[in-house]
Amino acid sequence: MTTAPTNSTPPTPPLSFDALKLSLAVRRAVQDAGYTRPTDVQAAVFGPVAAGKDVVVQSKTGSGKTAAFALPLIDRIVDPARGVQVLVLCPTRELALQVSVEFARLGKLKGVVPCAIYGGASLEKQVDEIRAGAHVIVGTPGRVLDHLKRGTFDPSELKTVCLDEADEMLSMGFAEELNAILERLPRTRQTLLFSATMPEAIRRMANRHQKDPEAVLLSADQISPDSIDHFLYFVGSQDRVSSLARVLELESPDRAIVFCNTRDETQSVATALQQRGFSVDYLSGELEQSARERVLAAFRERKIQHLVATDVAARGIDVTDVSHVVNFGFPAEAETYVHRTGRTGRAGRRGIAVSLFGPADVGSVYMLRLTYGIRPIERALPSAAEERTRRELERLAALREESIGVLDAETAALARRIVAHDDGERMIGYLLKKFFYQATQDALELGARVADERPVVVVAPSSIPTQPAPPEAPEEAEVAAPKSAPSAEGGAGRRPRSRSAQDKPRRIDVHGGADPGLEPETIESDMGELRVAVGRRDGARGGDLARLIRDKAGIAPRDIGSIKIYDRFAIVPIRAESIDAVIAALEDATFNDQPLSPERGKLSEPSLVPPASSDEE
Ligand code: AMP
Repeated sequence: MTTAPTNSTPPTPPLSFDALKLSLAVRRAVQDAGYTRPTDVQAAVFGPVAAGKDVVVQSKTGSGKTAAFALPLIDRIVDPARGVQVLVLCPTRELALQVSVEFARLGKLKGVVPCAIYGGASLEKQVDEIRAGAHVIVGTPGRVLDHLKRGTFDPSELKTVCLDEADEMLSMGFAEELNAILERLPRTRQTLLFSATMPEAIRRMANRHQKDPEAVLLSADQISPDSIDHFLYFVGSQDRVSSLARVLELESPDRAIVFCNTRDETQSVATALQQRGFSVDYLSGELEQSARERVLAAFRERKIQHLVATDVAARGIDVTDVSHVVNFGFPAEAETYVHRTGRTGRAGRRGIAVSLFGPADVGSVYMLRLTYGIRPIERALPSAAEERTRRELERLAALREESIGVLDAETAALARRIVAHDDGERMIGYLLKKFFYQATQDALELGARVADERPVVVVAPSSIPTQPAPPEAPEEAEVAAPKSAPSAEGGAGRRPRSRSAQDKPRRIDVHGGADPGLEPETIESDMGELRVAVGRRDGARGGDLARLIRDKAGIAPRDIGSIKIYDRFAIVPIRAESIDAVIAALEDATFNDQPLSPERGKLSEPSLVPPASSDEE
């Protein structure tokens, strides 16, 4: 390819699919899919692909690029009477599945059958599907190459190969597999190359494997659309996770994907956010497929509000209404920034990209401006004093709202006497304490209703108090506002939330950040954490674990707090002074033949969720 990827504006898209002159079957399928007019990339790509040309396309996920190649291939290239004629290569199994679903949807009335093949699934089943008459194979490079080598995928009738998200495949280290696959395909084939960015490696690939390709290069604006507002929060020496929590609180996203730079971070960040009351889960490469699918489904169905993920784990997630992308770790590559933030601001909605950045990231921010012209606006986190004032104002507003119209003459007279009394301040403090404690309970109840399946908070039966004691020390407490209180909108320094934000699960701030003043007494401040290497997948349940620990370590029931069960491990709050003895006692203990491998939990904070009313999952 000789064309440089200059910014060229694509033709104005036609107002209707009629302009593409689709066959009746495909036109009806497009209608059934609810597509009324082609997107930019669909309009620009249809002609050359339908004419059998090689095309290199710069387009991002969310632009309708799947249908951009699927439509002309289904309509003009694939003959339903023959075997496999199209191969689409994708970086991840999620994307392979999505692309396959799009082919099935758009090709159903013409009888075009796709088949998704990817690692981690049964080879035999895939062979059966190919033999049963698939016309389009959509797969990940490793597994496709496997089938080619085994002879279970015969490419002799192949007309077109399409590399989807080619830059991602290269950055994931698939170059060798891609070259090996392309070498095995008929030379006469058509080669399509779709990529969100056009680094040198993609151009080399186009040069090597394509014949006189037509370049469809959307402008940088369309790569990083106007529909995204970019913001930065400087994080110096502060604790990054606490800063993230404050950013989430300030920005108040309807739903966000929080990107981490490493796999290990995803879990610790998600856990820390969960413990601060956010509805969040994580996706990382080390999760098993079934767990990934569960988390993705929960995010898609809004059972969890935010998703913490690595770049690799988040690839191919097809959720169009993510309001915020948050970079917990600032990406070193400008391309990665564009990929990440492209997950918001889709389908006609505005999106917000928020990044935490430190001194080490200044160069990357500069490169972002140079390469893509993206100039994020810097915002400041409120200081501790501002934060305290904000909370105080929120509480004041909550109290004011709750009290409107409820005072009878007798109570009003009592109030006046209390205000005038020598001990008035103390008495009012006591009443406030009760009021805000009740608000916490209300919020926790609400939280329990919207809680994610994972982790499950269970309480060792013995540690449930019959009557929670009223809390102490009201001054520094941070609690969620009562249901009818306007805390989400009121208060200094807070921007109004969108309507949908008001409907979403509320953050339940039982932790109170640095001000854990109003936690119920039942949360012991001298509790530490024990981590055991058995979790939900091992069939672990809170009550069983508590019993096992009590029996083995001989500790009193009150020394064990609310156990949190995760997929692969559990966190057990244990009275701090007993932790070493408990670890020693559990050294060789097993649960369902799985060693407990006890160790101190990473988080030294005490158990953050006050005992709930149930004792089991
Ligand atoms: P993609 O860029 O292929 O990941 O597509 C992003 C989303 O846009 C998918 O949910 C598609 O179903 C949807 N989509 C694709 N083409 C159109 C269209 N012409 N009109 C409306 N939505 C579309």
